[in-house]
Amino acid sequence: MTLHSKHAASSAGGRGWLDLVWCAIKRRQSWRRQRRKEKEKKEYFDSPEELDRKVQQLADWIRESKHFFVFTGAGISTSAGIPDFRSGIDTVLETGPGAWELRAKGQQRDSQKHKVTSTLKAIPTTTHMALVRLQKEGLLKCVVSQNCDGLHRRSGLPKKALFELHGNSNVEKCTKCGHEYLRDFRVRTSKKVHSHFTGRLCDNPSCRGKLKDTIINFGEDLPEDTLETSYGHGRKADLCLVMGSSLTVTPACDIPEMVGERGQKFG
Ligand SMILES: [Zn+2]
Repeated sequence: MTLHSKHAASSAGGRGWLDLVWCAIKRRQSWRRQRRKEKEKKEYFDSPEELDRKVQQLADWIRESKHFFVFTGAGISTSAGIPDFRSGIDTVLETGPGAWELRAKGQQRDSQKHKVTSTLKAIPTTTHMALVRLQKEGLLKCVVSQNCDGLHRRSGLPKKALFELHGNSNVEKCTKCGHEYLRDFRVRTSKKVHSHFTGRLCDNPSCRGKLKDTIINFGEDLPEDTLETSYGHGRKADLCLVMGSSLTVTPACDIPEMVGERGQKFG
């Protein structure tokens, strides 16, 4: 008798022991997942003294580094008024809870209580501008970002120093000649998740190729060249600073983690 048929036989008169073990494992996994999620939502605050000490330490590390890059996520745009995804219901952020947290709790964003700006009107924050300055000074090699709000691009960070892993909501690209168009409107028009044609055509009269938005939705592959170049920075870096990301979404989160796994500075 196979294990499967044994299990089926014992289940016939009630719940089999395998069922009970399986349920216990699933319950344990679900409890662990829940605890991990709760831990991710916990917000930590340093005293001004501790913050000064950390900033000084970071400045020293940046000065000493040979290959430094920054990895950013939604958390760096909340102060521009763009809500993130994972902040908890009790967050101190003016933008309020993250979009996925609200969805999970079946709630709507409170427009009276929370300060939210559309991505088109949002202005790059001090953080975005500080990164531009570091890049101009030659201290920062590049920014690898999970954000598609376009704030890094609009902050003045040159294209060669920016890798937008999940695309840019204001950029559409010609499928024929590859030319990119940075628009002052959200380029996505398709209602279907995996359809990306915007309905517009390339301006070049000898091309007139169809344009596609550059947004990468869940389940879609990341652009290969952007991903490969980002991995290259992960392999070379001796310092990586992660800002505004819980490093949950793969494969993007593998890039900064590579730096830590090689025993280099990562935080
Ligand atoms: Zn074209």
